[in-house]
Amino acid sequence: MVYLASDERYEGMKYNRTGKSGLKLPAISLGLWHNFGGINSAENGRSMITRAFDLGITHFDLANNYGPPAGSAEQFFGQVLSSDLKPYRDELVISTKAGYYMWPGPYGEWGSRKYLISSLDQSLKRMGLEYVDIFYSHRFDPETPLEETMMALDQIVRSGKALYVGVSNYNAEQTAEAARILKDLGTPLLIHQPKYSLLDRWIEPGLQDVLDENGMGSIAFCPLAQGMLTNKYLNGVPEDSRAAGTSVFLNEEHITPEAIRKVRALNQMAAARGQSLAQFALAWVLRGGRVTSALIGASRVSQIEENVATLSNLEFSRDELERIDSILQP
Ligand code: NDP
Repeated sequence: MVYLASDERYEGMKYNRTGKSGLKLPAISLGLWHNFGGINSAENGRSMITRAFDLGITHFDLANNYGPPAGSAEQFFGQVLSSDLKPYRDELVISTKAGYYMWPGPYGEWGSRKYLISSLDQSLKRMGLEYVDIFYSHRFDPETPLEETMMALDQIVRSGKALYVGVSNYNAEQTAEAARILKDLGTPLLIHQPKYSLLDRWIEPGLQDVLDENGMGSIAFCPLAQGMLTNKYLNGVPEDSRAAGTSVFLNEEHITPEAIRKVRALNQMAAARGQSLAQFALAWVLRGGRVTSALIGASRVSQIEENVATLSNLEFSRDELERIDSILQP
């Protein structure tokens, strides 16, 4: 069936300015790390992408290695673009990244100009795109001079293969240096993509201060701690959850009694605010406007719907924030 986007797609979403740039991002963005690969149901993936767009999610986040197999999430997204979203290309912000292992030999990972530019060319081909909106250096490379990595990003923008560039997983110092180099080259560093959630607050306050000083935005990945900050694991590990699958980043060993004790206490606070725990966790990431967008993952449409409904209640009282801090204390 031909997909026609909802006429109401811009009614419920909030759009936040990315740092001091001209680009706005939806407060909730959708990432394709899990559940959109060659091993997953295409029908479910397509429903999630089109439903997300109907709810105002204009930003889709990819990387060269998302799948499995690596590259298949981009390929799948390319198919959905071609069958459903092509007429809406100018309403979409599509990002991809390079940094992690993609192919054998010395040019298949990290941060050389050689790798970044070939990888982006491959990504564009897989998605059937002429350009992406944001291209990221996915991780800092301790061996390649940062100048080279940043010059590659600058060249990518100048050649029209990306409109903006960002970095991911860089620490505060590396980010400040990257921003300085790119500023000198005349291409602003738009955005940082760090891991950030109630259970992982490493960006406070050092990296966040660097982002503010440099007029950069941020998009927080794993804002739900891969599902731990939802009602999913409150009473064990369901069979159809990420932790029960083959992920090395989230498995049953991460669902410790100590983590669940905290999550249960947060869940009670969420209920008192009339929110689900997922909504509470996303509202907390977006509180005070320091984070431009919360970058969620999903395995089904209903999760995206629940998560977007967060936006009706983003305020926290001082008492609530203090109570959260005390629950999370080690
Ligand atoms: P989340 O923390 O949002 O976890 C998503 C998972 O949580 C879903 O797959 C689902 O798990 C569960 N979930 C989501 N919503 C709900 C809900 N309402 N109720 C119950 N469970 C829910 O993020 P991800 O870990 O998926 O990462 C998001 C994106 O961030 C990635 O797709 C990628 O784009 C980006 N990322 C970037 C990285 C980087 O290095 N730059 C690294 C990692 C991610 P289940 O499958 O069990 O249903």
